[in-house]
Amino acid sequence: MKGKPLISPVYLTATYEFQRTDDLIDVVQHRSGFIYSRWDNPTVREAEKALAAMEGYEEAVAFSSGMAAITTSILAFLDKDSCIIVMRETYGGTFEFVHRFLPRLGIEVIDVGCDEVDSLRAEIEKGLTLLYLETPTNPLLRIIDVKPLAELAHEKGAVVLLDSTFASPVNQRPVELGVDIAIHSATKYLGGHHDITAGFACCNRDDGKRIWEYRKVMGGVLDPMTAFLTLRGMKTLELRVRRQNETTMKVAQFLAAHGKIRVVHYPGLLTHPDHPIAERQMKGFGGMLSFEIDADFEGTKRFMDSLKVIKLATSLGGVTSLATQPTTNTHVALSADEQQEVGISDSLVSISIGLEDTGALIDDIEQAFAAL
Ligand SMILES: *Cc1c(COP(=O)(O)O)cnc(C)c1O
Repeated sequence: MKGKPLISPVYLTATYEFQRTDDLIDVVQHRSGFIYSRWDNPTVREAEKALAAMEGYEEAVAFSSGMAAITTSILAFLDKDSCIIVMRETYGGTFEFVHRFLPRLGIEVIDVGCDEVDSLRAEIEKGLTLLYLETPTNPLLRIIDVKPLAELAHEKGAVVLLDSTFASPVNQRPVELGVDIAIHSATKYLGGHHDITAGFACCNRDDGKRIWEYRKVMGGVLDPMTAFLTLRGMKTLELRVRRQNETTMKVAQFLAAHGKIRVVHYPGLLTHPDHPIAERQMKGFGGMLSFEIDADFEGTKRFMDSLKVIKLATSLGGVTSLATQPTTNTHVALSADEQQEVGISDSLVSISIGLEDTGALIDDIEQAFAAL
């Protein structure tokens, strides 16, 4: 037959047949092919290779969600009496995992606020097994200077993980910052269309083998259909993120000049405390921003409920703009004092900018201010 499919088939198979037992033994012993889709699947492998190439790592390991990638990767490097240092501003699910689950396994967990760089360095100096970073952070878009921290942690023999979800592979290059394992929730920018949950750990070959062995047993593998959708999303990633960078900068500038706003958090603005680090470390400032409205909780709620183009929904990184009040969902587990301590107020709004027309987004925000 003439003509070959441009797009690879989706291998919706759980198992694989062999002509000879010796071939089966070779796959089991050397991962030289496919035997069972919890171990490996051709479509999943294609997505892994594509992301590894995009991020500049030797390997990527695909998971059923960002949290599966995070928990499996962390567990792959910790033993009883290990020490993990995490940032206080880390993603809620990660925060819950390290603080509620890891101590029960006899693992020491130290958390340090991203503002306290000196304390963070002092804790690393004392010795650690794993340094877990995340930048930009949610919802205040703080930027952590990764390279010097990764160097210090490496001097102590630690493994350095970075959750790079908010930046996407377009705006940040973890491999160039000395990160051993770059994590992505592909539910966000990589998928890009609000229709999948997936996650990845990108790393060198040895670490990849180790994480793969844990995934094989813990079972949080990506399924082939979702791997296909991830591959499709990745083809437009750069175009989407470049456009989101541009639109978000314009929306941030509009908000910064608006009378009904107390503060705008966007690393692209000169007023952002981490702007100089962002400028050095990132290729673009991203599609996430947050801001405090000059209103109480009820007023902020009325603003949220009046948005039309921007949808009231959690998650981020897709084609549709989404808005949330962090105190009602992502940070609901924090007490009022804790929320205040990390700078998250009742009138804070977090927006993930999609691909809509910039003017339509600004008009939408403007008309919602009328409801205050
Ligand atoms: C969403 C998210 C996660 C978790 O990913 P899931 O795909 O929802 O499991 C982890 N880290 C960050 C920064 C996220 O935004």
